[in-house]
Amino acid sequence: MHELAVTEGILKTAIEASQKNGARPITAIHLVIGELSSIVDDSIQFYFDLLSKGTLAENAALRFRREPSVAICRDCAHQFNATAPLEPQCPQCGSARLQVKGSREFFIESIEVEDENTRR
Ligand SMILES: [Zn+2]
Repeated sequence: MHELAVTEGILKTAIEASQKNGARPITAIHLVIGELSSIVDDSIQFYFDLLSKGTLAENAALRFRREPSVAICRDCAHQFNATAPLEPQCPQCGSARLQVKGSREFFIESIEVEDENTRR
């Protein structure tokens, strides 16, 4: 499954980030998923629960945010929501020179680790 590989990548990145910060337990991982992505949140959560057992990320909460994809026409600057399947041309002027923002499949926005810094 696609989601399994994605989840492995998320877990690896999160653990590496935690290790660079004193290997503190990870409490939450904030993920942004592009609206054009086929990734299913529930599948990621399912694999994450399995894979994270015994790691620094065990019990970490996954927080998903869907990022809308917006296409911008380079010729007339018209903006429109990009939904799958992606329109190949600008609905306003017909230009094919489109730029899609937020089309990345997913990325990790931030990672929260346990705060050991209670004494200041
Ligand atoms: Zn246009």
